[in-house]
Amino acid sequence: MKWLAGIAIVLAALAALFWYAVLDGSAPAQSEGEFDLAAYRSLVANDAPETLPTSVHVEFVGKSTAPSFATEAGAFDRERTMSYNSFQIVAPGGDTIIDGAVDRATLTEMSEGKGSFDETAYNDVLAAMTRAPNVMITHEHLDHVMAIARHPEPASIAANLDLTRAQLDGLPEHAPNGQLAPEIAAASPADYTTPTRIAPGVVAHAAPGHSPGTIVIYAKTAAREYLFIGDIAWVMGSVDHLRGRPRFITWMISGVDPDRVSVLRQLRELHDMRAQNPELVLLPAHDDAYLRGLISEGVLAEGFTTPAPALETTPQ
Ligand SMILES: [Zn+2]
Repeated sequence: MKWLAGIAIVLAALAALFWYAVLDGSAPAQSEGEFDLAAYRSLVANDAPETLPTSVHVEFVGKSTAPSFATEAGAFDRERTMSYNSFQIVAPGGDTIIDGAVDRATLTEMSEGKGSFDETAYNDVLAAMTRAPNVMITHEHLDHVMAIARHPEPASIAANLDLTRAQLDGLPEHAPNGQLAPEIAAASPADYTTPTRIAPGVVAHAAPGHSPGTIVIYAKTAAREYLFIGDIAWVMGSVDHLRGRPRFITWMISGVDPDRVSVLRQLRELHDMRAQNPELVLLPAHDDAYLRGLISEGVLAEGFTTPAPALETTPQ
């Protein structure tokens, strides 16, 4: 019966590999120090109420689907819609744009031609970046940078960029022919190692893990608080169920979760932060169903606002 023992060993090894590659994504039981909500709040505590952001908007630029187990380890329910988005924090003193989404070519490549792309939404993002005094990205991956790395008028956005060194270093590979526009290449890097106030009610803080340049962005409106978490979680289920991405995805897609230990710690802290601050709105970049739920609750608005056209002066 030696062969039977041999088969048992092989099956056990395969089961262990399956668990390791597909099922395991557990966040630790405890973590602290990845985020500092108290610091974010105190940095904007003295901002005059009339200067605070008034609303948060999203442009759904592209869309594709993924099996649930590929987005959240151990989730075997249904297909997930991943949308590729850009966010706008509207404020009296000027807007903050977060993330540059995908262009059509990138969406087609990422989705192997199966995704959908909204040209009007992408053009709205390109235009909003020229007007917003603060243009940021949650991280430097391809589905967050295209409206910056491939902006048709780079000179019109260069002065608005608030990107870190790690984020700027990630842009050239996505630029046309691998050549970043000189205006963007010359942008001076920001440093968010410690929580940093960007504008009234808006704070950025480095949170490396999913990528070296990953940051979170906190925003406070009169009505509520938001935390943009980029791709720390692809779906809110990762925060709710304390499960990160499966390892096989990080082997398949280069650059995803180079510091997986930190990502899992961050998921634990986001989970706890949400439990302790039920009013805080977490905004993952891609969870289409969750983001659309926030829109129906009135917490998030679909489509960017555009400034009112200047009044025409009638010749006398
Ligand atoms: Zn992403």
